[in-house]
Amino acid sequence: MVLASEINTSKLSDPDILMVERILVTLDPFIKARTDAETTPSITFAELYAHLDNEENAFLKKFEAIDLAELNIKIPYRGMVDPPKDLVAIKDQRMVVKGENKKLPTQFLPKKVYDKYLELNATMKKDLGKGLYVESGYRSAAYQLYLLLFYMKNHDYSLKETVKYVAWPGYSEHGSPEHQAIDFINGEGINGEYNTKEFEDLPEYAWLTLNASKFGFVLSYPKNTDMTYEPWHWRYEGVTNSR
Ligand SMILES: [Zn+2]
Repeated sequence: MVLASEINTSKLSDPDILMVERILVTLDPFIKARTDAETTPSITFAELYAHLDNEENAFLKKFEAIDLAELNIKIPYRGMVDPPKDLVAIKDQRMVVKGENKKLPTQFLPKKVYDKYLELNATMKKDLGKGLYVESGYRSAAYQLYLLLFYMKNHDYSLKETVKYVAWPGYSEHGSPEHQAIDFINGEGINGEYNTKEFEDLPEYAWLTLNASKFGFVLSYPKNTDMTYEPWHWRYEGVTNSR
């Protein structure tokens, strides 16, 4: 009996790379349609699997069976739950990036977290004259699986590498209404994605480090830990009144 997963998590085999590519091509029209409808964050596993043929389904089942201990995931498991019913759509977030108007795709947050974000942002605007936008809010575990497959090519098809940057489904705080994360971006389009320091140097970031906890938000992946540093990623943990 072979206990090790059939998938090489250090680097996918050539046939497995082709299979990932094939799945992405198969899913492309579905993902495009949902992107156009601005509803990618609520994609379910049933919807994802319904678009795949038997071979593609079988491959993803193998994928799901990977022994996660092998992946050496540093971040906590947050659970797999269905998309919450009270998601609020955040539309029309408009920024000016290098002189050009840019509108962010619609984002979603559970109602409670959305309300707290509004409070936080209103206070930041009062203090700094500017606030932060939600670049990424809620996204389902199924969409997270799609993103993981999509971004593997950027990490030489090594799952061990990819999961340092794209969470394994169930580990993403973006899919966890109880620990809901927000990726912030500022009004000039700075999100730290290619240069963490750019975000870290913002007055908006300094303000967050001093004030976010008053609104129940905490920095999930701080500097100098064994997790990948993400200064833009804050999760809602709720406000405690005890002092
Ligand atoms: Zn994030």
